[in-house]
Amino acid sequence: MNVKNSVTRPLARVIPSISASDGAGVKLRRSLGSTQNLRLDPFLMLDEFGTENPDDYIAGFPPHPHRGFETVTYMIDGRMQHRDHLGNVGDLGPGGVQWMSAGRGVIHSEMPQQDRGRMRGFQLWINLPAAEKMKPASYRDIRPEEIPVAPLPGGGTVKVIAGSAEVGDARIDGPINRAGARLTTDPLYLDVTLPAGAVFEQALPAGHNGFVYAYEGEITVVAADEPRELPTQAVGILGMAGDAVRVRAGAAGARFILLAAKPLGEPVVQYGPFVMNTRAEIEAAIGDYQSGRLTG
Ligand code: FE
Repeated sequence: MNVKNSVTRPLARVIPSISASDGAGVKLRRSLGSTQNLRLDPFLMLDEFGTENPDDYIAGFPPHPHRGFETVTYMIDGRMQHRDHLGNVGDLGPGGVQWMSAGRGVIHSEMPQQDRGRMRGFQLWINLPAAEKMKPASYRDIRPEEIPVAPLPGGGTVKVIAGSAEVGDARIDGPINRAGARLTTDPLYLDVTLPAGAVFEQALPAGHNGFVYAYEGEITVVAADEPRELPTQAVGILGMAGDAVRVRAGAAGARFILLAAKPLGEPVVQYGPFVMNTRAEIEAAIGDYQSGRLTG
């Protein structure tokens, strides 16, 4: 896009990722969600998994519940299989995305489909508004070929998973949150690859929270008066002043994701895989799970 007349948003806060383990012992880097205060409404959690060592992922995520939010799994390398209580089976391969809305409840497993080689990707949790927390669960497997990748004028590419990007005069729509089928949180999810020193610019709606996360290389968030570097594997939360973001790759080039969405402004009460608005709703979720009524 052309943001010559835009004010670009600054890098306001850095949340480093920490080493964590989830499921049956999958090693990952957790940034958002590593403590309950480290959220960015409506984003609840960001996990990056990335390893060549099968011992770090082979045990996978055996059956477990979710209620009240969406889980978005983006595979960069490797294969995982999703199975859920409804009998759905989804295969997630390199470049694919699974967008699951847990709604009132889902019980699923996410298990690796390989015993060697690299497994790399992200799992992002996005909150649902109170009015949608108890809707029926749904999910969508998005094959890599359904996700547009556009070359950038200054080199590199942008892949549009959710929302849309402007490249030159063209608007590139991702498969999720298209015009005419907007989600309440109106999410933008881009994966950007840049050669050394190249710049990427993207408009962001006023009032939407946004962050960047470089998973290869280092980036600089360039705001008018304060360019600020972001180290690899850390969430860089963008300040609210401005209507665009400008990111420059460091000397080794960079790969990063850019996320933005409309904050819900509702209370968040979380107990593990249940994210509701009140403690009573959490107690109900635990009771429903224990008595087999979570999913309906
Ligand atoms: Fe899960």
